[in-house]
Amino acid sequence: MKDKCAVFGVYAPGLRVANLIYFSLFALQHRGQESSGIAVSDGERLFVHKDMGLVSQVFEEKILEKLDGFIGIGHNRYSTTGRSSLQNAQPFLLESDIGPIALAHNGNLTNYQDLQKKLIEQGDTLQTTSDSEIIGKIFVSLKGKNLQERLVRTLSELSGAFSVVISTKDSLIGFRDALGIRPLCLGTLSKNGSSGWVISSESCALQTIGADFVREVEPGEAVIISKNGVVSLTAAAQKKRAFCIFEKIYFMRPDSISENELIYETRFRMGQELARESFVRADGVMPIPDSSVPAAIGFAYESKLPFFEGLIKNRYIARTFIQPEESLRKIGVRLKFNPLKEQLYGKKVIVVDDSIVRGHTTKAIVTLLKESGAEEVHLRITSPPIRHPCNLGIDMATHEELIANKKTVNEICSYLGADSLHYLSLDGLYKSSLKNADIHSARKKFCAACLTGEYPSIPDSQPHSLLQEPALNF
Ligand code: SF4
Repeated sequence: MKDKCAVFGVYAPGLRVANLIYFSLFALQHRGQESSGIAVSDGERLFVHKDMGLVSQVFEEKILEKLDGFIGIGHNRYSTTGRSSLQNAQPFLLESDIGPIALAHNGNLTNYQDLQKKLIEQGDTLQTTSDSEIIGKIFVSLKGKNLQERLVRTLSELSGAFSVVISTKDSLIGFRDALGIRPLCLGTLSKNGSSGWVISSESCALQTIGADFVREVEPGEAVIISKNGVVSLTAAAQKKRAFCIFEKIYFMRPDSISENELIYETRFRMGQELARESFVRADGVMPIPDSSVPAAIGFAYESKLPFFEGLIKNRYIARTFIQPEESLRKIGVRLKFNPLKEQLYGKKVIVVDDSIVRGHTTKAIVTLLKESGAEEVHLRITSPPIRHPCNLGIDMATHEELIANKKTVNEICSYLGADSLHYLSLDGLYKSSLKNADIHSARKKFCAACLTGEYPSIPDSQPHSLLQEPALNF
């Protein structure tokens, strides 16, 4: 499973922001590894640099030196709509009646084709195949008497999942879809006597640059940061939220905050719940590193079994550039993980992982553990079986490719070669996803469509009101 992009933005008069964005994109590299880009404004002009590859491959010091400005946005991309190419790399630069703007987007528009048709009919030309460009074109075409009105009109046109940052020449804007499908948060920054604001996909990037987390951008909210302070526009209240539950299970970094708690703590609770549901006698509990570590520690804590590491991840493989053929997939797994044979030999092990998509990698891992001497391998998964594809910004698999769509749990277990297999129940997942929340209220907060097949009903248009908070001064 691959997430779809990271966005980041800074408004900090008196500071050169390109380096801050660069380090933040490093912290958000897990959300997209195909291309990376930064756009900055010096108050008059916008400069952009973007290319294919990881943040470390796209930027070097002399490029960052040329990106001179106190407002800026950054983006790491993994493609969903639109192919992986430089043409589709973000941020997008667009001309508008308010000067040049740069835009970066995480998510997937569900009314992409309608909007594309509408733009073409009104004589617009599109340079890319990305739905993110559509958001920019809509923002540019829908003029209002001020920025607030333009934003209200833009938000009312968009459907689907979108967490967006925009840099105009003199302001930073961030907004999130009405269901809050992808994360977005707001922070403050104080450095060398200057202060400012940041907007980020995840709070882990705030820590990296010494910014402080303030709060999440609310579903349906837009914030405008300028010399006048911060103005918030709030959408008409949506009764239902649909935050992607896989952000909690897998995508977000464990040191990021969601719903006022660290993702680490949420995953720890998922592990505890899993242990309550599916205890088995074993010698120890190990994670598939790295995303399953907090859940495995939670499982070990609850089951009073020792936690241990049986696999060491090669942390320098950001991704396998050459995808192995089916027959060579085992080598791909070996490239990524080295077994600690002395830890595994003769042991009955509980292996905690976050999900099984097609099953190929899990099968190769079970084989690797057994070949390394594990006597029994009991798989424990912190999500229910994934039976449906995602249309909201996650590259998962088709119905046909999803192993849980074709096989029962017992059949999957025997295909994987495991001694037992248990998936966290849906109620168990809801219960552990929010601190002190009951299952009923948790259900209303999340999208779990890939597990249940119940896709959130995306509002066609999102009526927005103009609720202005008093400007917050720096
Ligand atoms: S379908 Fe699954 S992966 Fe997609 S947004 Fe919903 S919970 Fe997340």
